[in-house]
Amino acid sequence: MKNIVYCGGVPIGGDYISVQSMLNVSPYDVDASLLQIDSLKKAKCDIVRLAVPDVKAATVLKDIVRRSALPIVADIHFSAALAVKSIEAGVAKIRLNPGNVKGDLKRVVDMAKERKIPIRIGINHGSIEKEFKNLPVSEALVASAIKQVDLLEKLSFSDIVISVKSSSVADTVEAYEKLSKLCYPLHIGVTEAGTKENGIIKNSMAIGALLLRGIGDTIRVSLSCDPVEEVLCARKMLNFLGIRKDMIEVISCPTCGRTKIDVASIAEKVEKEFFNLSKPLKIAVMGCVVNGIGESEGADVGLAGGKEKSSVFMDGKIVETVENDKIFDTLKKYILIKAEEKINE
Ligand code: SF4
Repeated sequence: MKNIVYCGGVPIGGDYISVQSMLNVSPYDVDASLLQIDSLKKAKCDIVRLAVPDVKAATVLKDIVRRSALPIVADIHFSAALAVKSIEAGVAKIRLNPGNVKGDLKRVVDMAKERKIPIRIGINHGSIEKEFKNLPVSEALVASAIKQVDLLEKLSFSDIVISVKSSSVADTVEAYEKLSKLCYPLHIGVTEAGTKENGIIKNSMAIGALLLRGIGDTIRVSLSCDPVEEVLCARKMLNFLGIRKDMIEVISCPTCGRTKIDVASIAEKVEKEFFNLSKPLKIAVMGCVVNGIGESEGADVGLAGGKEKSSVFMDGKIVETVENDKIFDTLKKYILIKAEEKINE
């Protein structure tokens, strides 16, 4: 049975799998931080982490926490003093590895205990302990994490979240599988996953494999791009796995010699227009009438492309056949009708 900890009001360790991201603006820039937090909130991020590299950042943190629309996690390296200052600023969680903290760790832990703030131990390739470097990577990640957990347990602290990330999909999955035997909730993800395209592939493979095994309590998709993309990717994973039902799914055919319309651009336009519609609708964009409707069985609203006119269908039945330049507006109309139906269900 997993422990449940709370980051602000967000549970980590229960049935709800939360989505988190990390700010990539200057930690000294309060307005830029708040702007990015608002964008992340709009994308339905649950928790946001920010780096606290020095006293200057810890000093402005209070203002960010006070005005933030999301619970804030302070990312601390090495300094107990910065952790203390961050807790005083009101953060909802700390990410720090107790083994490399200089200063009064007990004070940090006592304050976290008193304010019921969880601590995440985050091990990645770079933080593997020297003594475990000769082990296979997944074992070294887990052994290093357990060593850090011991330090907190010795101080009678148990509101712990753990992550063991590698940039290798296989090592990441293996490490989390080993760690899943512990009672502590897991923050899952692949570290240094890369640019948007490769990063999405790596994260999807590792996080998807883990979630299908029932492993993982909070997700961070790491990408070298706008953090909003991380959140959208994480939510898509949860929706495509059926764990969440809070966004539309656009399916589209791979196109072939029978294709009569620009499937890709229509599907992309629908995704873009409705990415924030929190309804579990399935929208199908299919390139021809021959196979389109049959192949997209189960779609709430769909399109089967024709040479000059295309058919829009709802629940498998054609509701309108329109000139091809009216495709998007017609699809939009029926998607909104279906969304309204879901509200009233
Ligand atoms: S739906 Fe039609 S156009 Fe699309 S791949 Fe199938 S046969 Fe080809």
